Amino acid sequence: MPETDPVEISVAAALAAARDDLPGHMQAGRETEILLGHAAGVSRSQLLAYPEHLLTIEQFDVFQNILRRRRNGEPIAYLTGCREFWSLPLKVSPATLIPRPETESLVEQTLIRLPCGDPLEILDLGTGCGAIALAIAGERDHCQVTGSDVSEDALRVARENQDRLALQNVGWVQGSWYEAVADRKFDLIVSNPPYVATGDPHLGQGDLPHEPVLALASGEDGLDAIREIIEGAASHLKRPGWLLLEHGFDQQKTVIELLIAASFDKVCGHQDLAGIPRVVSARLSTNRDTDND
Ligand code: GLN
Repeated sequence: MPETDPVEISVAAALAAARDDLPGHMQAGRETEILLGHAAGVSRSQLLAYPEHLLTIEQFDVFQNILRRRRNGEPIAYLTGCREFWSLPLKVSPATLIPRPETESLVEQTLIRLPCGDPLEILDLGTGCGAIALAIAGERDHCQVTGSDVSEDALRVARENQDRLALQNVGWVQGSWYEAVADRKFDLIVSNPPYVATGDPHLGQGDLPHEPVLALASGEDGLDAIREIIEGAASHLKRPGWLLLEHGFDQQKTVIELLIAASFDKVCGHQDLAGIPRVVSARLSTNRDTDND
């Protein structure tokens, strides 16, 4: 930590005072440590290793400012500007959804369907900060990944993440769902689309009121985007090709029915690490009729 302009407040004292300052539903201890680490430009463990260290005026001011914003409910990830996903440190902004741990199950199921060595083309629809696209690109450097998003602001963040991670095998296109890949076909399409019902009270809770509603909510039953993605998939998948979708906790049965109705086979539901039905994978078979191999 810089030694200039110390104020007479130590890391330990700043943390103790701030802890009592955050509302009960927040994880005050952990959160204040993350925020002070961010303000002081050090990791949480470095911070805790030197509790007697005196903060500079600037560090203390930044801390007070982000603490006040946190008290007003702003997500930690937007205050620090980053969130880890698939062990990748990713930049996030209010233009992007904050990556969730349950989405790692979607990446896991995707990788199972991407054999090492095959130079496949993958499309990540609604890529946001690029979390899914970058996680896949990092694990499969022989594959070419395209991340698509309607929001230019989100894509700016995704590009920045790509640059920081120095991944060459990802490209970005702007448009709604398949709009920007009109005549292209992929070996696999993956998406964590918006899937919350527009009237769901969940949208008013936790971090969600601060996140882009476009990335969260999708029609009366939350399934508008999923229906659109399934409908367009056959024109953008090679045969055989995989489609993998994240969905809400109570949507798996309906998503499976939609995929079967759209002539997908090998339709399979998967749970996230919390045991909640969260992902569906499905294959568009080689044969346009039925292929039961
Ligand atoms: N999983 C998120 C939530 O319910 C929603 C993200 C999404 O719609 N893809 O908090």
